[in-house]
Amino acid sequence: MTVAVESGVAAEFLGRGPGRLFIGGQWVQAASGEVLETVNPSTGAVITSFARGGPVDVDRAVTAARAALAGPWAAFTPAQRQDVLLALADRVAAHADELSYLDTIDMGMPVSRQRSSFNPAQILRYYAGWATKIHGETTANSVSPSVFTYTLREPVGVVGAIIPWNGPLGSAIMKIAPVLATGCAMVLKPAEDASLSSIRLVELLAELDLPAGVVNLVTGVGAEAGAALVDHPGVDKIAFTGSTAVGQSIVRAAAGNLKRLSLELGGKSPDIVFADADLDRAVPGAGMGVFANTGQVCCAGTRVFVQRPVYEEFTARLAAFADGLRVGDSLDPGTQIGPIVSQRQLERVCGYLEVGAQEGARRVTGGQRPDSPGFFLRPAVFADVADGMRIATEEIFGPVASVLPFDDVDEVIARANTSQYGLGGGLWTQNLSRAHRVAHALRTGVVWVNGYGYFDAAVPFGGHRMSGWGSELSEHSLDEYLTVKAVWITT
Ligand code: NAP
Ligand code: MG
Repeated sequence: MTVAVESGVAAEFLGRGPGRLFIGGQWVQAASGEVLETVNPSTGAVITSFARGGPVDVDRAVTAARAALAGPWAAFTPAQRQDVLLALADRVAAHADELSYLDTIDMGMPVSRQRSSFNPAQILRYYAGWATKIHGETTANSVSPSVFTYTLREPVGVVGAIIPWNGPLGSAIMKIAPVLATGCAMVLKPAEDASLSSIRLVELLAELDLPAGVVNLVTGVGAEAGAALVDHPGVDKIAFTGSTAVGQSIVRAAAGNLKRLSLELGGKSPDIVFADADLDRAVPGAGMGVFANTGQVCCAGTRVFVQRPVYEEFTARLAAFADGLRVGDSLDPGTQIGPIVSQRQLERVCGYLEVGAQEGARRVTGGQRPDSPGFFLRPAVFADVADGMRIATEEIFGPVASVLPFDDVDEVIARANTSQYGLGGGLWTQNLSRAHRVAHALRTGVVWVNGYGYFDAAVPFGGHRMSGWGSELSEHSLDEYLTVKAVWITT
């Protein structure tokens, strides 16, 4: 597909002008009348603008969601919720190119990655299946033979979903799907750097036979719209994906009405290359484990531990791999590495290149800024990194690999587990028992062996410790959106 054809797919949407809020089934301006602009990071040019929702809009959206929960939505049968999810999946599949194009121009994810990363319609279909399979249980009790006990699993209520810019469509779908499957209602707050695909997704959803207020959209700034959602007493749960720092502020703010929380936060994931690994697979696998999406992946395997006998060879081959990656405009189908999302993030990442040099790590390659207007940075590899360095402990969220040598398996397990984070982890070996042993020992929510970064609707994804609480995807995500009630019947 050519760039010219691609740019046509969202012309009608973009031609309509500023995006609006979706509250109680109506498309409305922000109460303030204000808008935010969004920029294409491949060019630095403004794409369009959208509503800057604030506390007043959030309050109206929460009220609409509460009304939907108390009204017609509660009467929807599981099979009807399943139908809604299947209908949305069909629309998302029919508009897949348009939705991914919007993310590409909005936050820079290359079209090549869009086509290889996970399939949003498939996630919706997976949760459509679950809508009819949520049930409580009949329980034994020892009180009396004449007392009968069972449980109900009920929707937690109004969900405030706050998502980041690095995988906008996928993040939105991973919240909307379990909300609809469980019968919750929601207010979605996308990131200000990447709101367009959420606006278009909610337009597609608005065409469905869904009661007003089940899904509401309030675009805006995190400290305004996001914080208002977190503070709102009418919200029963916050489903947040984003940085650990904001996640911590949400934990504090949720104390007001003791909201339920699920938090998908940052990481500094270890990826361990043993000397017996097939380096022909490990080099590109670990390389894309760090550089995919320009390193803007929460589970990026940024601490690459390499066993001493292959350390020099692996590092040289990783550098050559990084040098061979095509960096460029995200709409070019040949581009492997797009821009960083914004000038601000680019400066932050470049700051870490300075930090690495000051800490005494050896920059083997990368870190140059191509001479073009977008926010591009060539993928960088630091060798001779030590565990305590900031480039080995802090989430950079850019295309920067830290390579650390190690000697034996117990040592590397201990060092991999020193991180405050516990999201992803990887290892490369041809030894089956070592693969299982290390996979069990890593204190992370996900471990990939001989292949890094796979996702699937049926496989849980989530972090431990400072990487968050709870799971997304799979049946486990449903628990985050349900409460359990016990019922006692005395006969
Ligand atoms: P962020 O700054 O935490 O923002 C995430 C979302 O929270 C955005 O919608 C943001 O709004 C909003 N927000 C900001 N301040 C807020 C506040 N005080 N109250 C409520 N909401 C607020 O993170 P980001 O920079 O967008 O994304 C990168 C981070 O997300 C990285 O740390 C990455 O590891 C993490 N991430 C984790 C996962 C995972 O599944 N574990 C997945 C993807 C990303 P605005 O941006 O619109 O201001
Ligand atoms: Mg943008």
